[in-house]
Amino acid sequence: MRKTPRDVLKAVFGFPQFRGGQERAVDALVAGNDALVLLPTGAGKSLCYQVPAVLAHKTSRATAVVVSPLIALMNDQVSSLQGLGVSAEAIHSNLARDQQREIESRLLNQEIALLYVSPERATSDWFLRMIGNVNVSLNAIDEAHCLSQWGHDFRPSYMSLNKLTTQVKAPTIALTATATAKVFLEISKRLGLKTPETVIGDFSRPNLKFSVHPLSKDKERLGKLVEIMRERGFNKALGEGRALIYCSTRKRTEMVASELTAAGINCGAYHAGKEKEKRDQIQRAFAARKYRVLAATNAFGMGIDYPDIRVSLHFDAPGDLSAYYQEAGRAGRDRQPAECILFFGERDLMTQRRIQGSKKGIDEALSAVRSYAYSQDCRQLTICRHFNPTVKSVSCIECDVCLGETPTAPKPQAPPDVSQDLLDKVLEAVGNLPFPIGRATTCKMLRGSRAQNIVKLNLHEHEDFGRFKRFKDADITQAIALLIEEGKVSVSGTKYPTIWLTGKARPTRGRKRTTTLRSKPIRARANPRKFSDIRRGLDNYRRRMAKQLQWKPYMVFQKRVITAIDDNPPTSLDDLARVPGLGPAKIERFGEDILEIVRSAQR
Ligand code: ADP
Ligand code: MG
Ligand code: ZN
Repeated sequence: MRKTPRDVLKAVFGFPQFRGGQERAVDALVAGNDALVLLPTGAGKSLCYQVPAVLAHKTSRATAVVVSPLIALMNDQVSSLQGLGVSAEAIHSNLARDQQREIESRLLNQEIALLYVSPERATSDWFLRMIGNVNVSLNAIDEAHCLSQWGHDFRPSYMSLNKLTTQVKAPTIALTATATAKVFLEISKRLGLKTPETVIGDFSRPNLKFSVHPLSKDKERLGKLVEIMRERGFNKALGEGRALIYCSTRKRTEMVASELTAAGINCGAYHAGKEKEKRDQIQRAFAARKYRVLAATNAFGMGIDYPDIRVSLHFDAPGDLSAYYQEAGRAGRDRQPAECILFFGERDLMTQRRIQGSKKGIDEALSAVRSYAYSQDCRQLTICRHFNPTVKSVSCIECDVCLGETPTAPKPQAPPDVSQDLLDKVLEAVGNLPFPIGRATTCKMLRGSRAQNIVKLNLHEHEDFGRFKRFKDADITQAIALLIEEGKVSVSGTKYPTIWLTGKARPTRGRKRTTTLRSKPIRARANPRKFSDIRRGLDNYRRRMAKQLQWKPYMVFQKRVITAIDDNPPTSLDDLARVPGLGPAKIERFGEDILEIVRSAQR
C-alpha cells in the first residue's frame, strides 16, 4: 500500500497529527507544487519539508535539498533526523574534503533523503553541476527572509538561490518566521515560485503583555528600568524567571549592566565585541542563573532559548519591527505570562539610522517602528498585521493600549493639514458623540481603532466609527483643537478633559452627573477601621466588575491601587488621576464608582 504523509508523520516522527498549516504545505509539495510558509518560531516549519522528503525517499529514493544559513542549525537538524533513522547529511565549509567526497558518492547512490547545504555551497558551480546528476524531490529554503534586502538578516548568497531553484526541476518550499507582506512577495519572486501554496500562521502570543514607554533621556530610562526590575523582584539573587535587556550598542550594554548592578540588580553584559571565551562564560552564567538579568545587543539570540524569560525589555528601540518581535518574543516561551517592554524616543531612530547606514528600506522599517510606538491600536494586532495585513483581530486584553494606559497623544509626524472640509466633518462628528469623551479617544474612535477602551465603551458600534480612517491622527487632533479655539467645541474636566458640542444638552449618565470634580479636603486618617472599609469595598467592587467583564480582577485595577487609595483617599477625579496604576481609561470607566465607594466607607 502507498504510504501517506500522515503515515510518515506517525511512523518516523512519532507525532499523531499535523499542526496548523503543516498539512497544506506538505500536500502542496507532494502534489508537485511550490509553497511559501510564514509560521512563527517553534510552530514546526521543518516538518513541512521533512515529511515530504522522507516520503519521496521511501518511494523514489529522491533527495531533498535544504538550504539553511547557520551551520549550527544544520547540524542540529541533521543529528536529530539521524536519531530518527532518517539518512540526512550536511555540506558546508567546515567539512573536510574526504567527508564531502563521501557524502557526494552516497548522494549519487541515492542513499540520502535530506541534504542540508549552506547558501554559499548551494549556489556554487560545483554543487549545481553535481546536483544535476541527482534525483531531487524538493528544494527547501529555510530562513528565507535572509534573501531580502528589506529584511533584517540579509545574506547576499541567498540572492542567487534562484540558480538552484530554477535549475532543479522540483517543487520549492520557502520558509520563514519573520517577513512583512512585502518581503514575503519578494521571496516568492526571487525564487521564481509558481503560484505557491501560501501558509501564514497565527503570530499572536496571548501570554505576552506588550507596552511602550516614551522616554528619551538615559537618566529617565535608567530610572524606569530600575523601577521595573525591582517591581518584578529582579533585585533578588534567588527567584523565578529571567530578564533580557536589549541595547543598541556594546557600550550601552556595559553601561546598563553597571548601572543596574550598582542599583543592586545583578546584571551581565553580552555583545559580539567580547572574546568568544568571555561571551560563552557570560552566557553560561545566565544559563546557570548567576545573573538573572542580562543586558545584550542583538548578537544575543539566534538559537538560544530560555523558557522562563519573564521580561524582554528594549532599552533602546530596534530598527525594524520584525526584529523587535523576534527579540521581544524570546519572553514567555513557557507560555506563562511575560512582558515585552519598549523604551522609545525619536532619538532611537537616529541611532538606528547611524548603525544601519544606508541599508535598503531603512526609512520604511523605521517608520514601522515609530508607528508601533505611537499606535493607538492593540500592540499585538499592530504586530500581527505587520506580518499579515488581513488579520482582523487577536486575543489581547493586556497590552498598554487595550488597558488604556498609553501616554499622551503622539507627536504629529508631518505638519497637520486641516482643510475646511475636514473641520466641518469633525464638527459634525463631535456633534454626533453619544456622550462626552476625551480627545484622544474621540480621535481613535473616528479612525476606527479597536483599542479595548473603545470596545468597552461600545464606541466601535457608533455610526461614525472608522469614518475618518483615511485621515491622519494628527490632522484630526489638530481639527479638534481648532474647533475648541473657535468655541464650537467645549472642554470640561481638568486632568482628563472630555469634549462635547458647545450648547448641546449633555446626556445624563446616572450617578455620574452628581459627582463631578468637587474637591473636598482630604480627611485625616482618623479612624483606621473605616479605611479598611475602603479596602473591602474596593476589593468587592473589583471582583464584581471582573466577573461581569470576564476579566481577571487585577485587570480592573491592581492591589497597589487599592493600597494607594486606602493610604490617601481621593475625593475627586483629579485626585484619582494621581494614583499610580490608574490610567485615563480606567478612571473614565471606574472612577465615579471608586469615589462613591470611598465616600460611603467614610460616612
Ligand atoms: P520552527 O522551524 O518553525 O521554529 P521546528 O521545525 O524547529 O520549528 O519545530 C519546533 C518543535 O515542534 C520541534 O520540537 C518539533 O519536533 C515540534 N513539532 C513540529 N511539528 C509537530 C507536530 N505536528 N506535532 C508535535 N510536535 C511537532
Ligand atoms: Mg526552523
Ligand atoms: Zn492589546
